[in-house]
Parts: sequence; structure tokens; C-alpha cells
Amino acid sequence: ASGYTLLRDPHFNKGLAFTEKERDAHYLRGLLPPTVISQETQVKKMIQHVRQYQVPLQKYMAMMDLQERNERLFYKLLIEHVEELLPVVYTPTVGEACQKYGSIFMRPQGLYISLKEKGRILEVLRNWPEKNIQVIVVTDGERILGLGDLGCQGMGIPVGKLSLYTALGGVRPSACLPITIDVGTNNESLLNDELYIGLKQRRATGQEYAELMHEFMTAVKQNYGEKVLIQFEDFANHNAFDLLEKYRSTHLVFNDDIQGTASVVLAGLVAALKLVGGNLADHRFLFLGAGEAGTGIAELIALETSKQTNAPLEEVRKNIWLVDSKGLIVNSRKESLQHFKKPWAHDHEPVHRLVDAVNKIKPTVLIGTSGQGRTFTKEVIEAMASINEKPIILSLSNPTSQSECTAEEAYKWSQGRAIFASGSPFPPVEYEGKVFVPGQANNAYIFPGFGLGLIMSGTIRVHDDLLLAASEALAAQVSEENFEKGLIYPPFTNIRKISAHIAASVAAKAYELGLATRLPQPKDLVKFAESCMYTPAYRSYR
Ligand code: NAP
Ligand code: MN
Repeated sequence: ASGYTLLRDPHFNKGLAFTEKERDAHYLRGLLPPTVISQETQVKKMIQHVRQYQVPLQKYMAMMDLQERNERLFYKLLIEHVEELLPVVYTPTVGEACQKYGSIFMRPQGLYISLKEKGRILEVLRNWPEKNIQVIVVTDGERILGLGDLGCQGMGIPVGKLSLYTALGGVRPSACLPITIDVGTNNESLLNDELYIGLKQRRATGQEYAELMHEFMTAVKQNYGEKVLIQFEDFANHNAFDLLEKYRSTHLVFNDDIQGTASVVLAGLVAALKLVGGNLADHRFLFLGAGEAGTGIAELIALETSKQTNAPLEEVRKNIWLVDSKGLIVNSRKESLQHFKKPWAHDHEPVHRLVDAVNKIKPTVLIGTSGQGRTFTKEVIEAMASINEKPIILSLSNPTSQSECTAEEAYKWSQGRAIFASGSPFPPVEYEGKVFVPGQANNAYIFPGFGLGLIMSGTIRVHDDLLLAASEALAAQVSEENFEKGLIYPPFTNIRKISAHIAASVAAKAYELGLATRLPQPKDLVKFAESCMYTPAYRSYR
């Protein structure tokens, strides 16, 4: 290829880091100014560049621009400044980016499959330049974070998630494929927006929807084989549960909102119990929000508790209560409940307000998965703090605007006694002279390592025990030093090491269950995971 082409290909471009020899060998003379600088210097320059922007969305655009220009530099920067840049390329900023995707849209990222492509999805997949795909993250944009239906503009989510697959989990960027399925949107303001990039029609549902999804699932398997991981992301719950149920026995599928969230929260709870005492069976859980995240977490807690105590699932479920938009889920509502809520309908009189549910159920753990900001009010937190010496409070809804409460509120209203973590990051809080560092209960801890574990072992199906293995591995990474600060998750700085441990545990379990096809099984799975991980250092071209 000519030097000019090389400079414009983000996979190969190194900018000023091309050496003298490379400049000679690849017709780059004159196309670059004479100076040669190292990748390390470029990282220093780029972090300054990103920091000069005050507005998060501008930082996001600077990052996307870099990704399109110089992929290896993008990943090196992201990995080396992960705590600082995660909130830029992921929650909360990615939420705003999706909301404004139409107006900030410059170059298409990922693959768009709309109703127009019905009957031709296989052809569409073949238009993608990379042939060896290991992970697909797919959304239909109907429930983007806690921001609702953003239609085709949901593309920011698969793009962001996959950049974390690479940065945090070490999956090669060329093996990652972001996909948005566009079946329309019910978002009126997008339908009326001349800059909206998607189909301007209301969402297809029922058979039309199912057929498009089925064609997609079939085409993916036909084109990429049995071992490609398909991660469902930010589908509305009525479709999310059905798709997972329908394809879990024929495809390697994983729903991050249901399963990934469950695994990460269970890990946090297991760690929190070291601070609070007792086993899972000794605790009582109350959720605000009974959708994908809420019921997914509830089910995994029940599964783990049942394994620990040998008690039947139906029995341990009784310690877990959920509140949805209509109040506490109780038996008298059972007939009208969606199927995924039915296991959680227990005997109790109807309760409408969350604070009343807290006072009646007396939970030790309160978990927010409602997508509704500011729902853990002063009254609610105070009630939790009057019932418990150390209330565990998790505000999982994203982005920050939808968090059930802020870190400051959780610490202040519980007089500094809450064990708190949130889905989107909050800065440390000072309360009565003490500094509290809130943890981030975000599935970014799990899915990259989880996916790596599946890929490196050639696993062909996801089993719940793999989620439990990931959860245990993550909880084991919380150090004494973290606990002393009240943290129930390790800091993101060590995330690649954490991901390698998660990957190894997931793979070990997959081998044990006979789901792994890569034989023989590597002896040291942690080392093997590390050896599989992509590193963004430049390669030399001779
Ligand atoms: P979902 O399936 O749509 O579920 C939302 C649930 O919240 C539904 O049960 C809904 O009730 C309930 N709800 C809505 N408004 C409510 C209110 N005012 N009071 C009580 N309940 C209310 O959504 P999801 O997938 O579970 O996601 C929910 C949130 O969790 C989102 O903000 C998402 O970003 C966040 N999340 C975070 C992580 C993380 O890693 N931290 C992972 C996944 C999801 P009805 O059923 O009655 O409609
Ligand atoms: Mn999600």
C-alpha cells in the first residue's frame, strides 16, 4: 500500500511514530513532518488534548476521532487512563452521545441492519471488512441506559461496549462487531427530527420483529460459525427475555443487562458481606425496578443462595422482594404480571410506596434498577439506616441523571453508615471529616473478562454457572486495602488483570461442564488468558 493509504488506515496508522526506516520503506517521506516521536509521547499529548475540553461530549468526540484515526493509540490511551476515560467512552457520556448521535454523526461506525435489509442480512454481514469476528454486541435501541427509546442512535452503545471488550478484556478490535438493528422508533422527538439517522417509522413488533431477528441470528451463525459471541444490549425487556430464552440453546448468546448485571452485583454483594457479616441467606433484598436488571440479579442471588444452603430455589426466593411501577410485587397481582416477575410474587398485602415497602419488608440490602433518578429519597435512605447498622445500598441505574440517589445522599442520609455503590461513577464524598469512596457497580467489570473466557476456550453455550464463576472471581479481587476504604469492587486501574482472572474462572467452569471446545485445556488458564490479550503497542512494519 502507498504511504498515503497507510496514514489513513486507523489499523496501521502511527502518525509521527513511524520510524525513519518505515518512512523509507513505505513511501512516507514527505507525508509527515521530520520529527519522530514515541507512542508514549503521543499518549501524553493525547491525554492533554482530551483534558483541555471541559464539556464531556467534546471529550467523547475527541476520543471517537482518535479511534477513527489511530486505533492503537486510542486503546493505549484508554488502557493507561482507564479510570479517567471510562466515563467518557462509556456511561454517563455515551448516553448523551446517543441522544445527540444524529447531530454529532460524522462517519458511520458499526453495522446497521434495518427493515430495509430484510431478506438480505447475510449480504449485509458480508459487507463488513473483517471476516474473523469473535464478539458481536447488538442493540435495537429500545431501552438505551435509563434514557428510553433512542432508535438507531443506540449505536453508541455497541460501539462503546466493544471498545471496552478490547481495552478491558483484550479482545482484538478487528474481532469485534457493533450492530444496530433498526425496526423504527416510538420516540416522537426523533421521528420529528430532520437529523435523525434511523428509519422514520414506528417500531415493528410481533411477527415482523421476530422474523427480522431470526434472519439476523441465522445469518450470524452461518457467516461466523457457532463460536461467535452475541451480546444483546439495551433491548426493551419484553424482547430481551424472549430473545435470550429463544436462542440460548442454539447460539452463544449473553444478555448483559440481565446476566452481566446479575454477575457484577452478586460479586459486590459477596464482597459487601465481608463488611457487614452473615451469608446471603441471612440477608433480605428489596429491589426498586423489576425488569431485566432487577429480576436478573434477583435470580442469580437466589441461585447462589440455594447452592450455598441446599434449600430449594422457591424457598430462597422468598427473601427477595421487588417493587415495580405499580408497587410491591405480591401474590394478588400474579395474574396480571409479566412472566419474568411471577417468581417474585410473594404473600403480602399490597404496598404502593417504596418507603412503606422498606418499613414493612425490612430489607438489609436495597437495590435500584428502575431507571428512575432520585427515587431513593431521604425518607427511604433514613428508613434503611434505622433498620440496619450498615445498610447496603446500590443505585444501579445509568446514566448519572437516572441514579436512584447520589453517593453524597447515600452517605449523608445514613450518617455515613451506608455501604454504597452506583452504576455510573460518583466522585469521593467527604462527610463529617471522613472521606468515602463510592464503588462503581457496573457490568464493565464482568462482560469483557467473561467474553474473553468464552472465546479463548471455544465455549459454545452460556450456562448460569459461568456467571457464578465470574462473580466469584471478581469478588476475590477485592483486596483488604479496598475493604478498608469501604469498597466492594476493586478499582478499575487493575481491570486487565481482573479480566484475566474472570476469563480463567469462566473458562475453567466451561471445561468442567463440557462446554469448551478448545482442546487440550491449557494448564494455567490465567497465563493463557493474559497471552490471548491484545496489547496496543505499535508493531513495526518492515
Ligand atoms: P427495564 O427492564 O425497563 O426495567 C425497569 C423496571 O423499573 C421495570 O420493572 C419498571 O416497572 C420499573 N420502574 C420504572 N419506573 C419506576 C418507578 N417510578 N418506581 C418503581 N419502579 C419503576 O430496565 P433494566 O434493563 O432493568 O434497566 C434499568 C436501569 O438499570 C437502567 O437505568 C439501566 O441503565 C440500569 N442498568 C445498570 C447496569 C449496571 O451495570 N449498573 C446494568 C444494567 C442496567 P414496570 O415493570 O412496572 O414498568
Ligand atoms: Mn446495557
